Order: sequence, then C-alpha cells, then structure tokens
Amino acid sequence: MYQKIAELASGVQDKIAAQRRDFHKHAETGWLEMRTSSIIARRLTDMGCFKVLVGKEVCDADTRMGLPDQEVLDANYQRALEQGGDPEFLPFTKDGFTGVIGILECGEGPTVALRFDIDALGVIESKEDSHYPMAEGFASINDGMMHSCGHDGHACTGLGVAEVLANIKDQLHGTVKLIFQPAEEGVRGARSIVEKGHLDDVDFVIGNHIGANTDGADFVTGGGGAMATTKLDVWFRGASAHASGAPHVGKNALQAAAAAVMNLYAIPHHGKGESRVNVGTLHAGTGRNVIADIAKMEMEVRGKSTEIKDYMEACARNVIKSCAEMYGCTYEIKVMGAAQTAESSPELMKRAYDLICREMPEYKAKEYVPQPGGGSEDFTYMMERVQSRGGQALFFRSLCPCAGPGHSRIYNFDEAVLSRAVRVFCSLVYDILK
Ligand SMILES: [Zn+2]
Repeated sequence: MYQKIAELASGVQDKIAAQRRDFHKHAETGWLEMRTSSIIARRLTDMGCFKVLVGKEVCDADTRMGLPDQEVLDANYQRALEQGGDPEFLPFTKDGFTGVIGILECGEGPTVALRFDIDALGVIESKEDSHYPMAEGFASINDGMMHSCGHDGHACTGLGVAEVLANIKDQLHGTVKLIFQPAEEGVRGARSIVEKGHLDDVDFVIGNHIGANTDGADFVTGGGGAMATTKLDVWFRGASAHASGAPHVGKNALQAAAAAVMNLYAIPHHGKGESRVNVGTLHAGTGRNVIADIAKMEMEVRGKSTEIKDYMEACARNVIKSCAEMYGCTYEIKVMGAAQTAESSPELMKRAYDLICREMPEYKAKEYVPQPGGGSEDFTYMMERVQSRGGQALFFRSLCPCAGPGHSRIYNFDEAVLSRAVRVFCSLVYDILK
C-alpha cells in the first residue's frame, strides 16, 4: 500500500505544480483568498467523494481577526471574479468568508485533520529575470500580494493529498478532514476555524510548512515551539489646537503614543523565558503647527509560552492606558491577530519519523530539536484544541532548495517538494486509518 501511495503521489506532481503556478500568479492575501478558495472547492467537489464546506461553514464570523475593510473586500471580490474564480463557489467567499474544508468519510475509525494554509503576503514580487517565477511567467499579477512563504505550495499539497486519498479511500477506516485555512499570515485565521468547532472531534491533526534544506534533510518530523503572540492596532485620540496660540487647549496624541513606544520597550523581561515586543509603525498628526489629535500604531508582543505572552500583553495594555491618561487622551486597542504556543505530540513525531525511515528510505528524515526564538504560527490553535481533548498533533517541515529567505520578494521553492509532502501526508493518514 505504501508503494501504491508513492506511485499515486508522484502521479499528481505535474498537475499540482501547474496549479501552484496558477495560485502563485493570482496571489491573494488573508481573507481575500476568494479565487483560490473557489478553485479548491471546485476541485474537491469534482473528485466526487468529499463533503465540501465553504463560506460561512468554515470560519466563525466573529473570531476572524484582522479582516480588511469592506471596500477592500468588495474590490477583491470583483478582482477574483475577473481573474477566473469559480462562478459556483466564488459567491460563498464574499465579505471575507474564505477557506474550504473537504471531509472524506470512510466508516468507523478515528478522525484525522490535515491543515493547509492558502494565503499570500503583502509583498511586492521581484520583477528581475533571475527570479524564477518571473522568468517562467507565473509571478504575481496582483500588485503587493505575493506567495513568498510557500502557502501556494501548501494549498496544492492539499489538493494532491485529496486526489491520492480519493484513490485509496476503500483502504481507510475513519474520517479525514482537509482544512484549507485562510489568513495564516499575521496569525488571523486558525482561531475562527477552531471556534467553529471543526477540531472538536479530531483525534489527530497534522500540518506542515515548506522550508529550506540547509543540511540535506527532506523532512523534519516535528515542530512547535513557535512563539505565542498577539498583534495589536492602537489608536490614541486627543484634541487638536494651535501649537503656539493655545497649546494648553490641546491633548497631544502624538506625545502619548511616543511615551507609549518608549515604555513598551521598557517592559521587564519575564523570568521564565523569552519575550518580545515591537512597535512596527507609528503615524500621528496632521501638520507642523498643530497639536496632534490622533496617533495610530501597529505593534506586537510575543512570548515563549502563552503565559509569558499574556504577561507581555497585560503590561503593554497597562502602558498604553497609562500613557493615554498622562496626556489626557483616550485610546482604543484592536486585536488583529493571535497565536498560542504548542509542541508536537512526542508519540506522533516518533510515528512520522519511524514511518519515513521504514517506508520511504529514499527520504532523509531528521528528528525535531526545539529551537530558541523563532516566528509564530497559528496552526498552534488547532494543535492546542486537539491536544487538550486528548488527541495528538504534529507540525512537520518539508524541506527543499529555496531561493531567498521566506517573506522576501525573491522567495521561491523547488516544486519537487510538493509530491514528497503529499506522499508523507497520505502515508501517515493510511498508517493511522488502515
Ligand atoms: Zn508560512
């Protein structure tokens, strides 16, 4: 059976690589993956054996974080329509209801959820000929949106997995949920899928990320340790006044924000582990001789554990409140994204490692070693939900030669990684549901 899965996986390579180029060319950022979602829903539906959830069935409306403004949603819906979104499924994605879930029911047995994120980043793609997608004619035609983190590859891995599983469904005993998640960047989407209850009946949840192979390994069979984080937008509101004639009448929002920035970076470290704080943008005021009545900043806190992140967030909120009060201003804080921290389950990590060594000896697997620092990943919400109900979670890495660092305008990955990832996903599903 593992041999059959290997053959089926290499059989879908060309098709999913071509689809990857189509998604790359029509890159869509978080909550705007309308064309992408409609095409995924079309493909899953055409396979005939999946129950396909779209639109409001996928994400809990109120816990979608960092949703773009209505005008942006409307304009991108129009764009997705013009760029060949599937006419049957596109209407479900209106107003940012992106993401798709495909459910394959194969009788009694455990439920395995596989997660594939589908969004692009707000990056302007390189126009240089040395950039492979440019040279091959599939660079993004959507200005300021680029797949520079490989999620175009993740989406197509999911489609490849769907096709292989559809072929071997008679050998499976249980349920498989393929979760095509929107808005991973900025850690905005996973929570709303968890809140909708899609992880509540899941025994095993598995996700993966494409990464650069620096030492020849094809897979790292584990992961986690991503930092917990909260992304905040903060507004300070004061009162404008003549800077010379009546400064005493003004309430200086710029001053409040500046004081907040300095004091945010002065939050004491947590004794139990690493923490981070960053104010990435600050915009304030309207003119040289006017007391600034508004200031807006975009900031984030992180912690090596959810406890440390919560500490950083509580301190940050206190700084913002105090600085606003100090200058007679009001303030407003909006949560734009959040992720937990979570570790892969040791049992499932070992199972994946042993399986690759035993059934896929031509791949080099490496066991996961926890690292300090690192980014954040909202798959941790799904991991945490499944683990807290007694299930197991795995986040693994599929490695290949990559151009440029992730999130850069010259990022690209070697498409051969796609069918390798399909093979590992499907072998794991079979191992659990056989
Ligand atoms: Zn990513």
